[in-house]
Amino acid sequence: MASFFDSVKKTVQDVSNKTGDAIDTQKLNMKINSEKKNIEAGYAKLGEYLWSKINKEEVAKDEALQAICNEIQGGFDNIAAAEAEIQSIKDKAAAAASAAANTAATAAGAAFCPNCGTPTVPGSKFCGSCGAKIG
Ligand SMILES: [Zn+2]
Repeated sequence: MASFFDSVKKTVQDVSNKTGDAIDTQKLNMKINSEKKNIEAGYAKLGEYLWSKINKEEVAKDEALQAICNEIQGGFDNIAAAEAEIQSIKDKAAAAASAAANTAATAAGAAFCPNCGTPTVPGSKFCGSCGAKIG
């Protein structure tokens, strides 16, 4: 009988140890993932530091480093091109809106400021935009 209870006790201990092991493993995996993130952040910092050194020509580039720099510069160039495109779209939209406003103002019989071209409020003596005298 003693051996039966010993056996049960051992099984309970084994299950308990396995659960403990699983928790320890999970904690260690979380620790590893956290450290990996820290390393990635460190790599990014190292890269930015090196990039600033390279741009000041304080670091000699070998072929591999040149290739990495080209990739990064390509990214910056693509961003600049996309930003220029956004600006161009915004400029076109603003020009279209301005033209539409002028067309609407003309249709409504409004005059335009001789100085800045802004539609003037009928009956006003000065431009609401630049203050120039009208008429
Ligand atoms: Zn004006």
